[in-house]
Amino acid sequence: MSEVGWDADPDVAGWAGFPALEAELRADVCVVGLGGSGLAAVGEALRRGLSVVGVDAGRVAAGAAGRNGGFLLGGPAISVHRAGAGWGPGAALELYRQTLAEIGELAGLLGPRVVRQVGSLRIAGLPGDPVDQAEQADRQAELADCDEQYRVLRRHGIAVRRYDGELGVGLFLPDDAAMNPARRALGLATLYSTRASLFENSPVTAISSGRVRTAGGAVSAGLVVVAVDGRLEVLLPELAGRVRTARLQMLATEPVAPGRLPCPVYGRWGYDYAQQDLTGRLFVGGGRDRFVEQEWTPQSMPTAGVQAWIERVAARFAGAAVRVSHRWAASVGYTADARPLVTQVRPGVVACGGYNGTGNLVGPIAARAAVALGLDGVAPPACFSS
Ligand SMILES: Cc1cc2nc3c(=O)[nH]c(=O)nc-3n(C[C@H](O)[C@H](O)[C@H](O)COP(=O)(O)OP(=O)(O)OC[C@H]3O[C@@H](n4cnc5c(N)ncnc54)[C@H](O)[C@@H]3O)c2cc1C
Repeated sequence: MSEVGWDADPDVAGWAGFPALEAELRADVCVVGLGGSGLAAVGEALRRGLSVVGVDAGRVAAGAAGRNGGFLLGGPAISVHRAGAGWGPGAALELYRQTLAEIGELAGLLGPRVVRQVGSLRIAGLPGDPVDQAEQADRQAELADCDEQYRVLRRHGIAVRRYDGELGVGLFLPDDAAMNPARRALGLATLYSTRASLFENSPVTAISSGRVRTAGGAVSAGLVVVAVDGRLEVLLPELAGRVRTARLQMLATEPVAPGRLPCPVYGRWGYDYAQQDLTGRLFVGGGRDRFVEQEWTPQSMPTAGVQAWIERVAARFAGAAVRVSHRWAASVGYTADARPLVTQVRPGVVACGGYNGTGNLVGPIAARAAVALGLDGVAPPACFSS
């Protein structure tokens, strides 16, 4: 059995898979990494009428793209009211609008069984009473931040409502959505596989201008797009210093009270988060701020300390003790100013990544910008670091 809770879904468990690359192929574009971002690059190349080969080291969405919280939240990794100043006028807001459009795009491609357009809830703190004065004080500060976010979003015409209910106090963002991330990636891969040549279990061992070598084959291509979020600097060492890999961890529980979480919910400044699927199971992650140094690692095994924290968070979201069924982790990339990278690394080789823990929507937008950079020489928008 997979350790990843999302893989229990019959549509994921029944994935037939693609072959490994065992030949020398030629294509207009070669995409390295078949997560949500790499698949968007595949889709963009197909839209342009180009031939595409895509390769992944493991299954489609073997990395974070199949192991994340499944939140489809509008906006950049840091809230738009805090990103604004450092990113230049309008850059964060423009990215916000594009991410909302991306939800519509995904829903159109994959339908409501995969993309559940249920909104999201930001609450101050975690559900339940604060356990001590420090938690109480932090919750008050976060309530003030919710107020500020509410004002900024309203001013820019982005839908937001105040929330005061069973889970706490905060904001409801009606345009956000939820998904099983593995189903999103496998759904897109299935759609594109009739026109693109996609390969799994084909780790890339070398990338140079116009050529990608894998364990069992090679691809010659006019453009190589490297769409890998975590461990990007391992694959492309010249990006060390611009992107840094961290581990994020999650767990899944046995079913809890149905309808406990009506939509994805995140609390404590977004560090802790949970969504409930239609079977009643909770998918819970968090604690990044509590384990900062030890989680700067390319390793992707779950650890006892972080899992114990998330288990306590899960009980708060459930409103009762939980039984854990799955525990897992994955790698993501962070950048110093929270702007993702879209950059040319070598002639004919572009890369995107560094989504700061929030790449489900930003990643595909970055990947399309990477294709435009590589094929048209169009500079990425200001919300990205080139
Ligand atoms: C626990 C957790 C929770 C998260 N929650 C959310 C959330 O709720 N919402 C959100 O927006 N974001 C979330 N994120 C972040 C999000 O998952 C990532 O930013 C996003 O999935 C990145 O997708 P990607 O396609 O760019 O990269 P990845 O998912 O990293 O995909 C890269 C692919 O490249 C492949 N690869 C790597 N090296 C090689 C190689 N040498 N050769 C060939 N293939 C290779 C990998 O196997 C992988 O399939 C979370 C991340 C984690 C880990």
